[in-house]
Amino acid sequence: MNPELYILGSSSATPTRERHPSAQILKIESEKILIDCGEGTQSQMIKYGIRHTGINTICISHLHGDHYFGLIGLISTMSLMGRTQSLRLIGPPGLKQILELQIEQGGMSLKFELIFIPTSMDKFERIYETDTFEIKTFPLKHRIHCTGFLISEKKKERNLNIERVKELNIPVNDYKKIKLGENFTNGHGETTMNEDLTFDPPAPKSYAYCSDTIFDPSIAEYVKDCNLLYHEATYMRNLEDRAEMYFHSTAEQAAKIAKLANAAHLIIGHFSSRYDHLGPLLEEAKSVFSKTSLAIEGEKHLVKIHNG
Ligand SMILES: [Zn+2]
Ligand SMILES: [Zn+2]
Repeated sequence: MNPELYILGSSSATPTRERHPSAQILKIESEKILIDCGEGTQSQMIKYGIRHTGINTICISHLHGDHYFGLIGLISTMSLMGRTQSLRLIGPPGLKQILELQIEQGGMSLKFELIFIPTSMDKFERIYETDTFEIKTFPLKHRIHCTGFLISEKKKERNLNIERVKELNIPVNDYKKIKLGENFTNGHGETTMNEDLTFDPPAPKSYAYCSDTIFDPSIAEYVKDCNLLYHEATYMRNLEDRAEMYFHSTAEQAAKIAKLANAAHLIIGHFSSRYDHLGPLLEEAKSVFSKTSLAIEGEKHLVKIHNG
């Protein structure tokens, strides 16, 4: 199944009537990964019917409030609901200190462990992996320690051509090795090549999240060829100077990164509250990179191989 991305927050610094600060959920395999957790994330999850029970990993890009002020609230709810499973928190080193202080001073006694995994501003690194996917972080250029996330499926096993395998009376015990790409040799020493026994598995897919950052073409290297790229687009081109001053990007610059990275599709978000209508931001981005969509709260995006 294709990974699915749910947009919960699309606003920059302050909420508006229609938009909340940054938060997204990526459903990948059986996991739900929460990416940033701005104020109001819990309410948005309730509104859009996303339960927090499957969330075992939370990625926080940086410690500006619009990216994590909802986190202690969510942790508190998880605790009140009786959570016992540990929770992985991937984010800047200071996150641990902040949360531990909030927990201590609030007299909270969690029945589950918080596992802090600090991000680094010095390297592009794999920070977490399971059998089926991995999370890498990379530095972004913002006013404080800030990283992006690249979440990729791992290569899947090959699919058995069941008809062919049965025709050749291959023992079930050999299926595993064949799915891993091995040829099959029978008792008479006759070998059948793997291509004759299997089909290609679906190509692994990847999602890249570039939260707050100044326009930085080097980002494109980290997210090269991703299937879906999210990039902030706080302003429009006419406020490019302002974007640069505050270490943010314009819609046009987000699209330039998508083009440089050869992304299959782009989503722009983190919109300044000055914009009531987002159409012009979309048009600006599309003039550079046509396969662009807006981050609209409540909408789902599939991380898939896009054709054309
Ligand atoms: Zn922000
Ligand atoms: Zn920021």
